[in-house]
Amino acid sequence: MKFLKNFSNSINRNNSQDKSPELFHYKRQKVGELSRIHLRVDPDGTGLLLVNASKVIHLNPTAAYMAHLSLEEIPEDQAISKIKKRYKVTKEAAQSDYLDFQIQLDELIRPDGVCPLHDLELEIKPPFNVEPSAPYRMDLAITYRCNNDCPHCYNARPRNYRELDTQSWKDILDKLWDYGIPHIVYTGGEPTIRADLCELIAYAEKNGQITGINTNGRRLKDPDFVKQLVDAGLDHVQITFESHNPSIHDEMVAARGAWEQTVSGLNNVLESPLFVMTNTTMLNANSPYLAETLKFLANMGVPTIGLNALIYSGKGKNVGTGIKESELSPLLETARLLTQKYNQRLIWYTPTQYCNFDPMQLELGVKGCTAARYNMCIEPDGVILPCQSYYVKLGNLLVDDWDSIWNHQLAVSLRERRNIPAKCRTCVLLSECGGGCPLYFQHVNDQNKHEESIDNFHHFV
Ligand code: SF4
Ligand code: SF4
Repeated sequence: MKFLKNFSNSINRNNSQDKSPELFHYKRQKVGELSRIHLRVDPDGTGLLLVNASKVIHLNPTAAYMAHLSLEEIPEDQAISKIKKRYKVTKEAAQSDYLDFQIQLDELIRPDGVCPLHDLELEIKPPFNVEPSAPYRMDLAITYRCNNDCPHCYNARPRNYRELDTQSWKDILDKLWDYGIPHIVYTGGEPTIRADLCELIAYAEKNGQITGINTNGRRLKDPDFVKQLVDAGLDHVQITFESHNPSIHDEMVAARGAWEQTVSGLNNVLESPLFVMTNTTMLNANSPYLAETLKFLANMGVPTIGLNALIYSGKGKNVGTGIKESELSPLLETARLLTQKYNQRLIWYTPTQYCNFDPMQLELGVKGCTAARYNMCIEPDGVILPCQSYYVKLGNLLVDDWDSIWNHQLAVSLRERRNIPAKCRTCVLLSECGGGCPLYFQHVNDQNKHEESIDNFHHFV
């Protein structure tokens, strides 16, 4: 494109004082497959195209303008005339660039034919160094209550933590839309415990936001409840499933009879139009039987499998059942081969230190920390955290302005990777690895300090 870098006005506004982004939502149906597209245009005119909340494409101002014309389905002659006028180019140049752009856009927004919503895995098209003005996804921990009691749970708050009422959550959803955040995941705790979950899903969907839930699946055993979720407009569901073996699962979630309900819930959602995936935390108890668990899920027809390692937060800090990063490789290799064999999609979530475990070598994609950059979390009382497991308050969404939250010292420090381990500063893998999960290296630091203090104590006694 010849004039791609030539302008800096945004799409609809002429008022340069307006600092908020504009968010547009479109649905495209092609060959039976639905794409949901969000176009976010920042005040400087640059844009961000999100396809099914999973594919992210950064656009320069001209491309953002053309994307808007195309997605709004402005008749071609009118679109070309607008481009000609705006950029002061010939009609032929405007026509050629616009047609080129439309071909590229069609390719970008085409669903990949497997699962239009890959839930939480983002595919980010280069350039990777473009900083967003707000995350793409907000996790809403609407309650910390839960009907399971996993000993490895990352939740660091009491179960009876204060919860906002329905209207306050609706206000939050509106604010998130205004900040340009198109993807909402209801989580917890266990989000299905909140009586207003369907109402909140319907509200977000009405705004134009894509919605998902992360759940233990037990309440989904009720087909009527699943129907209510579908009717509310829910797009995707992720069910925590720890093992094919009922005893191992029930022990890992510390709730007898949970497995049976979770499996029944999983069956119900697999029969619904929702996009479904499971997530399994690989710990000492279940990982020796990972192959059997994957076979079980394949037989059930689960199309997408998520795996993660222990998160060093909440009870996870001291549970002692995690697998060392350096021991993950054979497990992930098994998972990769089996999911390929069963024709499933595998999503590996945990950002590790690549010198311990490099996901790129197993073709699992680049996994770096995305806290306070691509995702953030809101607690049941409206407090905003860098991510669901990082319990440091950045502000309260109901009272603080977005700038002060987004530019909080910790948020900036995470985005700029200021507090990485010393060994990472000169590492060639730093741009992909990012030093792993900050909570993991804080935990390692804390442990080292603890051991040092014990050594000092022994030294003095
Ligand atoms: S960036 Fe740090 S953690 Fe990552 S591979 Fe390099 S030294 Fe290891
Ligand atoms: S801090 Fe980053 S890597 Fe760690 S759990 Fe949160 S998002 Fe994941």
